[in-house]
Amino acid sequence: MHRRITGRLVIATHNPGKLAEMRELLAPHGVEAISAGELGLDEPEETGETFRDNAAIKAIAAAKAAQLPAFADDSGLVVDVLDGAPGIYSARWAGKPADFLAAMTRVERLLQERGAKTPDKRKAHFVSALCVAWPDGHLEEVEARVDGTLVWPPRGTEGFGYDPSFLPDGHGRTFGEMASIEKHGLPPLGLGLSHRARAFVKLAEICLG
Ligand code: IMP
Repeated sequence: MHRRITGRLVIATHNPGKLAEMRELLAPHGVEAISAGELGLDEPEETGETFRDNAAIKAIAAAKAAQLPAFADDSGLVVDVLDGAPGIYSARWAGKPADFLAAMTRVERLLQERGAKTPDKRKAHFVSALCVAWPDGHLEEVEARVDGTLVWPPRGTEGFGYDPSFLPDGHGRTFGEMASIEKHGLPPLGLGLSHRARAFVKLAEICLG
């Protein structure tokens, strides 16, 4: 049985880019979102081997600590010709403090080393795994992806992370060149474009009604 989200929800992220996106996604559903950062919760170590495992680790830790339902996302960029890298290490490739131009440059260098010059050899996708955990241990989990091609040099100043290097299939502009409303492409404007929006549409179906 799926469980509905009502009232207050902790958003288990310390990433301001993701927090802003999640708030935007939740706002139309009347859910009051408080961030783990605002509650002073510790960030657990992401020791999972999949996006799904890491989303669950973060949601479960926040739900236990705050004694409220908690929502977490684990996401990343998966590059075909790099055997799925950076994948669950997408944030870590940017280092601390995060430098995503450096991370995109590293991806590009590896693509060049593999001779990936034409768009068909530069395929990648973003993945978003979402998990809502309740303090009693109940979990709701969904996952979605958006396919695209990596461009070089990066284009645009919108979004965050690897957005300027990612051209979603069927579009002429990178995520870095799209305002967030277009990047998400949520109903009634679309059926969800970004990985996070697509996963969110699935979650909304089962938990927000
Ligand atoms: P984590 O889910 O906190 O482990 O971080 C995932 C990392 O993947 C982010 O820091 C970004 O580098 C990257 N990422 C995830 N979603 C997006 C996105 O929508 N645009 C650009 N980069 C993203």
